[in-house]
Amino acid sequence: MLNTLRKIVQEVNAAKDLKAALGIIVQRVREAMGSHVCSVYLLDPETNRFVLMATEGLNKRSIGKVSMAPNEGLVGLVGTREEPLNLENASEHPRYRYFAETGEERYASFLGSPIIHHRKVMGVLVIQQKERRQFDEGEEAFLVTMSAQLAGVIAHAEATGSIRGLGKQGKGIQEAKFVGVPGSPGAAVGTAVVVLPPADLDVVPDKHVDDITAELALFNTALEGVRADMRALSAKMATQLRPEERALFDVYLMMLEDAALGNEVVKVIKTGQWAQGALRQVVSEHVNRFELMDDAYLRERASDVKDLGRRLLAYLQQARQQTLTYPDNTILVSEELSPAMLGEVPEGKLVGLVSVQGSGNSHVAIFARAMGIPTVMGAVDLPYSKIDGIQLIVDGYHGEVFTNPSELLRKQYADVVEEERQLTQGLDALRALPCETLDGHRMPLWVNTGLLADVKRAQERGAEGVGLYRTEVPFMIKERFPSEKEQLAIYREQLQAFHPLPVTMRSLDIGGDKSLSYFPIKEENPFLGWRGIRVTLDHPEIFLVQTRAMLKASEGLDNLRILLPMISGIQELEEALHLIHRAWGEVRDEGTDVPLPPIGVMIEIPAAVYQTRELARQVDFLSVGSNDLTQYLLAVDRNNPRVADLYDFLHPAVLQALCKVVADAHAEGKPVSICGEMAGDPSAAVLLMAMGFDSLSMNATNLPKVKWLLRQISLGRARELLAQVMTIDNPQVIHSTLQLALRNLGLGRMINPASNIQS
Ligand code: PEP
Ligand code: MG
Repeated sequence: MLNTLRKIVQEVNAAKDLKAALGIIVQRVREAMGSHVCSVYLLDPETNRFVLMATEGLNKRSIGKVSMAPNEGLVGLVGTREEPLNLENASEHPRYRYFAETGEERYASFLGSPIIHHRKVMGVLVIQQKERRQFDEGEEAFLVTMSAQLAGVIAHAEATGSIRGLGKQGKGIQEAKFVGVPGSPGAAVGTAVVVLPPADLDVVPDKHVDDITAELALFNTALEGVRADMRALSAKMATQLRPEERALFDVYLMMLEDAALGNEVVKVIKTGQWAQGALRQVVSEHVNRFELMDDAYLRERASDVKDLGRRLLAYLQQARQQTLTYPDNTILVSEELSPAMLGEVPEGKLVGLVSVQGSGNSHVAIFARAMGIPTVMGAVDLPYSKIDGIQLIVDGYHGEVFTNPSELLRKQYADVVEEERQLTQGLDALRALPCETLDGHRMPLWVNTGLLADVKRAQERGAEGVGLYRTEVPFMIKERFPSEKEQLAIYREQLQAFHPLPVTMRSLDIGGDKSLSYFPIKEENPFLGWRGIRVTLDHPEIFLVQTRAMLKASEGLDNLRILLPMISGIQELEEALHLIHRAWGEVRDEGTDVPLPPIGVMIEIPAAVYQTRELARQVDFLSVGSNDLTQYLLAVDRNNPRVADLYDFLHPAVLQALCKVVADAHAEGKPVSICGEMAGDPSAAVLLMAMGFDSLSMNATNLPKVKWLLRQISLGRARELLAQVMTIDNPQVIHSTLQLALRNLGLGRMINPASNIQS
């Protein structure tokens, strides 16, 4: 059964559009289940009716014509109850409704299963049989499994249609909305530039080209390149492989010959398809044919064809990368955005970002916020590989992406962009003013840095110190670990730029969703694995070199503070302190006379919350990493879009933990700051100030907004609000209470500039 399922899903996945996909589903499911009828009904959101979209067994002329409301017929019943329905004799059921045009009166038994994607009913999959009989449990389970697997595939095919301006039933539609999660606030209107993962044939889109000769030339160059690689590889392996094993290279070379794969690709290119698309078509046809074979040896050949395809694609992509131009108002789209991709776009051209993977708490989103670029993360249903060059709107406030937006929507969003620009400009005047509440409480606002541009932005916005310098960022843009000297230069630049203000440098925090290309960490559960201090304690050479570089960089400046990430207990802290003292001794022995800087611990693991006092006793300061603390307290992977709506730093459990940390740190007489993204959320910042945090550290983009809000409120009022919020047990009620309170105080405009757009 598993094999049949796999084959059907694979075939449906390869279908060129929704109609073809549904056609394959009804045909294959009917065959697999040996039923007389198989039909798919999809819910049309415009009419709110289940429409017969494909059938094998019923009268095909009724496709697109027969439809029923959710309160009509058995299909409507399956859709509204969201449960399968298994009937021996359908016509005896009170909800049975007869459609003469389908000819279904001949069929007695009925088994229907809802097709549900992301909690939403998309349609119903039905099989019918002439004779009266109850479908057995195995059949029911098969249909339920089939519809669960097909839901995503249908959603994808539907979305692809909408990208091309086609509605479910093939009629033209204006725009389509794809929902993700907010990554970085702001709105952008621009042109999609898709960055495809290297050498991944499955995601190569179709594209029409006019210059066929140029495409053919590109493909021939790629062919030559792969042929040369194969010959070189074969020669290199001559001494290590037996002749029969080396024969594989000859097979590859033969496949590339004009009469085989190569020739087929050329034929497709001649129809006007670009070389990459033609290659994908031909390779996937071959791969499918091989994979569907029952002979294990032949099935294996599929991987040879795939490998060849990947090699050819790599050459074609290389050629494209060299010619890639970024239009004005580029919106970068990728399956998984990486910080490096952001750096490739020339300055001034990047206005928005969309990532299919990841969530608002992924590190790439954190960088996007620091850069002030509107971003949507986790747009899982967006057929991203198909949208290169089309117009997009990115709504980073709500986490929505619009393809082919109407004139009206574009105008509305252009107004939001302008309003936001004016708002930011208006805040520039705050630069020199202190962050002081109406009743005279001073709240120091620090910044988080990492990217080069952060320094300038932070200075322009009047930061009072650096609460978190993410040292892994300079590590991420290198091709090997930077040497002590290289690190020293980078850290010195940072310390000098802010001098005499303090700069809190965090020791290397890799793992989780932050990987170094030259030090890959592959784990099933990366956020619960080898991360942060765990890596650097296992590699004292990395930790010592980094600490030495920090200490030497601070010579004569004395504004360094060292922060330790991911501490889960006293032992880790003591080991890290030991290493820091060792590095300090070494540096002084070498003649650099620097004082031991203040050392702090991040509170970002629940265990550390309960050991705040013990940890505080051994260090000079504490800093709460609310990004990780939220993910670990709520058991919600910060990088997973599926659970992004459960990730909430205003959850009562998180708020209680924060209050406890502040109280415990102060009981030990130690200052405590917070450097997670929460600190940069203006309304959350009001609560954090009321809790008693000694400083808030945030991205420079948000700093003026937080300052503006805190200057409009008194500490007394903030404390009242906190006291009220702490009595609420439901996160959503906390959000609305906070919004309402700030709106009533006339402070609502900082919260959501795009709130009036109805889409
Ligand atoms: C945090 O976890 O809140 C934090 C500031 O660190 P990072 O986001 O880099 O993990
Ligand atoms: Mg963290």
